[in-house]
Amino acid sequence: MKQHRMIQRILSVILAVMIMTACLGLQATAAVEIQVEEIDFHRADFIRGMDVSSVISLEDSGVVFRDENGVEKDLLRILADHGVNYIRVRVWNDPYDKDGNGYGGGNNDVEKAAEIGRRAAKYGMKLLVDFHYSDFWADPSKQKSPKAWDGMSLDQRVKAVGDFTTQSLDQIRSAGAEIGMVQIGNETNSGIAGISSFDDMPKIFNAASAAVRGFDRDILIAVHFTNPEQTSTMKWRADYLDQHNVDYDVFATSYYPYWHGSLANLTDVLGYVANKYDKYVMVAETSYANTLADSDGHANTVSEWSNNTGDNLLWDFTEQGQADEVRAVMNAVNNVGEKGIGVFYWEGAWITVGDTTGLSGAEYDAQLSGNKALWERFGSGWASRFSGEYDPEDAGKWYGGSAVDNQTFFAPDGRALASLSVFDKVHRDSYLVGDANLSGELEILDATAVQRHLADLTYLGPTALRAADSDQNGNVDILDATRIQRILAGYEEE
Ligand code: CA
Repeated sequence: MKQHRMIQRILSVILAVMIMTACLGLQATAAVEIQVEEIDFHRADFIRGMDVSSVISLEDSGVVFRDENGVEKDLLRILADHGVNYIRVRVWNDPYDKDGNGYGGGNNDVEKAAEIGRRAAKYGMKLLVDFHYSDFWADPSKQKSPKAWDGMSLDQRVKAVGDFTTQSLDQIRSAGAEIGMVQIGNETNSGIAGISSFDDMPKIFNAASAAVRGFDRDILIAVHFTNPEQTSTMKWRADYLDQHNVDYDVFATSYYPYWHGSLANLTDVLGYVANKYDKYVMVAETSYANTLADSDGHANTVSEWSNNTGDNLLWDFTEQGQADEVRAVMNAVNNVGEKGIGVFYWEGAWITVGDTTGLSGAEYDAQLSGNKALWERFGSGWASRFSGEYDPEDAGKWYGGSAVDNQTFFAPDGRALASLSVFDKVHRDSYLVGDANLSGELEILDATAVQRHLADLTYLGPTALRAADSDQNGNVDILDATRIQRILAGYEEE
């Protein structure tokens, strides 16, 4: 009897724990719901893009990505499911030392771009190939020549740029990527491919351009600069490109609100280029913190002590604030008009390889030491110590982990945050009910698309899924295929 009561008591405790766990679970999924005002985009194909160059090195380090329900999935699929429609990936010529140790920052060589592009295409997303024409990070402070091009004359270098561009694009497309755009240099304010003369830089730009045109005339060619807050200098860059007959389609800038001025100024600068030179314009990089906390033991670009104040930080450091920033930057580009083609978020998935949140003392030290080992081995931090031979002044001194883990759309455990849904919510859908393949008309192929989707043979993104739900009951099943067939046969009203 006594024993029976004891079992009852244990059972009731277990039941209570189960109920509490269930409640916590519900709270966890219902905790954050972001609100996003739709933008009336001038272009139906407005780019809601993301750079996820570090993804393979993260996966190699043991990171897994999950949807908001905790289900493990390919990161590229999670992004597509949430409305991301374009992927950007950087390419370094040879980010390895002579022993094959990676410099880090994702160890982004051509092979990695090909693999990321292949996976993006599987989920209906095009690829922007971002050539740095360097063996490691290229930005306003450095545009170092690839090792293999050291000592080359300008003419030799021009040829090397063209050959490398063609061979890389061929390798990336052969893997199955759908290359929609190519960026010829990264933040090339002060140089490109080891060339810093403003008279010679156009020859490098045009060598890259000619290679892209020769490869495929339908691919858009983007030039990329930064510091749009230096308004007159930025406008001068477009004048300079025009005076030197540089062949390109898209004028792109980075826009980090803690450094790069107001949104109104961004629209003004991009509008100048779009209107005066009839070019497309876009933001190739932006990001915003959803928390000031760090989760990997490497200091973040935006933290309690840096880049967290300023006139242009209009949003809270929350998931809602992060989503608001994305919407605002897209709106600023859209305000240019039809020439404003899109926005890419930079490294929106560069999360921790081992969560340090809440740890202290020996526990923290052990986790950090584990993280360091992974950054060095798989290149999943911004730089490894092996980069010191190539970039001794910067990466060689400050190498380490992710400086943007608090600017991603994923929790430290890889689970998608509510803010990721901004990429879908910001966009006003327009589709014909039943038009699952989004061709613009109802046809038997739409029924086939539903069937193939149900058999997991065809990927349908969020808009296609809503269109595929031909009876609009909130769920895509075989009855939707049947209904499309019956409408086409005249048995049912559209
Ligand atoms: Ca960090």
